[in-house]
Amino acid sequence: MKLIIFGAPGSGKGSQAPNLNKEYGLFHLATGDILRKNIKEETPLGIEAKKYLDKGMLAPDEVVIGLVEEKLKCKECEQGVFFDGFPRTLEQAKKLDEITTIDKVIYLEVDFSILLARITGRRSCECGKTIHIKRMKTEECECGKILYQREDDTEEMVKPRIETFLAQTAPLIEYYEKQGKLITIDGDGEIEDIFEVIKEKLG
Ligand code: ADP
Repeated sequence: MKLIIFGAPGSGKGSQAPNLNKEYGLFHLATGDILRKNIKEETPLGIEAKKYLDKGMLAPDEVVIGLVEEKLKCKECEQGVFFDGFPRTLEQAKKLDEITTIDKVIYLEVDFSILLARITGRRSCECGKTIHIKRMKTEECECGKILYQREDDTEEMVKPRIETFLAQTAPLIEYYEKQGKLITIDGDGEIEDIFEVIKEKLG
């Protein structure tokens, strides 16, 4: 199975990763995570991508598409994949349709007023987990590493990121609706409750 989880920044795409992996064996392919890893390691690609991420803009299509094509060759992807944060433009969606066949696209719909509190309160771990400060009991992630705030999870960065979503990513709703693949789910709720709805809708 190949799924796309799609939605505005903070809509909860990555939060469904452990559930989707456990239930369906899907590999979590998150372009944001791959880009941040490259930025941290100061690879040429990371240095290029940083210029865009720092402004709340999207990394160039050709860079991200190249990363995805490479990652799809990995062994863990054989059982199935869910794409988180990809595609984010029509260009990326069209390219993805050339590379592989997508079964379903889950759109997590969340009111923009909720996103700000979710994003600014989000703390992340190198292992890929995220947690909201409301639920944090310690500064440590379950894996033992220290949680941190992503550089783009600040109040001033939320606005440009949401604007980028509306301008460049929202047109994908119609694109996948026309393909008959879109499943829209209310993303305002508990992670586990939302996963129950995802399971039900996937059938
Ligand atoms: P969120 O969904 O919370 O915004 P991500 O980790 O998915 O976070 O993405 C962080 C940033 O990485 C985005 O704001 C964007 O700049 C960049 N990025 C991630 N995925 C893509 C993509 N598919 N195309 C272009 N840029 C991307």
